[in-house]
Amino acid sequence: MRITFATEAAPGRQNADTGSTGNAGNTAGNDGNEDFFGATPDAFVLLDGAGTPAGAESGCDHGVSWYVRSLGSTLLAGMTQDTGTLTEILANGIKAVASLHDFVCDLTHPGSPSATVVMVRRTAGDLDFLVLADSVLVLDVVGQAEPTVVCDDRVDRIGRAHRSTMDGLAHGSAEHVTARREYVETMRDHRNREGGFWIAAVDPLTAEQSLTGTLPAHRVRAAALLSDGASRLVDLFELATWREALDTLERSGPGELIRRVREAEHTDPEGSRWPRTKIHDDATAVYCLFG
Ligand SMILES: [Zn+2]
Repeated sequence: MRITFATEAAPGRQNADTGSTGNAGNTAGNDGNEDFFGATPDAFVLLDGAGTPAGAESGCDHGVSWYVRSLGSTLLAGMTQDTGTLTEILANGIKAVASLHDFVCDLTHPGSPSATVVMVRRTAGDLDFLVLADSVLVLDVVGQAEPTVVCDDRVDRIGRAHRSTMDGLAHGSAEHVTARREYVETMRDHRNREGGFWIAAVDPLTAEQSLTGTLPAHRVRAAALLSDGASRLVDLFELATWREALDTLERSGPGELIRRVREAEHTDPEGSRWPRTKIHDDATAVYCLFG
């Protein structure tokens, strides 16, 4: 098996989107990258932290980077030591990380740090997977021309209903900053609620909202795990198909996929061709070739 990955903070990011009062626990990743990836020979986990815009309260002094690193490493440990389902491991992980700061932070705050989750685990003859929120898992299945794409579209669906004001404004303007803050606050009202979208944060029951599945391991030739900052080449910019993205990952590597994302972003610096919340986002691409 071969695993390759690349991860890159959004260009120009300098911790602007992390915790509101000092990032007490954020000792790692001082480029501000709020994506996380970790792997063992049998388990892979990708998280994408949801940021709090500068000036907004989150109730947590640790910040988003701390949250994703804490949850990501807890999940990886759980996947290698715990034989429970991925949903159970995620629920336990959310609970364990909440217990690390519930005595000092206000975890009832609607803006407390959160993260998307993709988990993949190989057991005896199976490959188990779990996806929560809008990171993407692409599976190259033997004998199948089109890859199997697992992505939870609830974030996107709720987002589309509330983003028209923001999308009509040029990035960089004061009006856009205000509209983006309002959009983020509106999204918070739909976070982890029935009829809204689900993301790892404080409540372990959120894990039950994950998309999960199992395939015979021998049927999966390769898997790609992508944060939405990387998957946007396909699902937002539509500059490649999922099959082409897999081919790029295999032939040229994850760094090339991210390079193509940045190249596209630079051609549209105000978000007029491709309206988006962030002109650049943290981008992580992982390619696992099972052979
Ligand atoms: Zn905290």
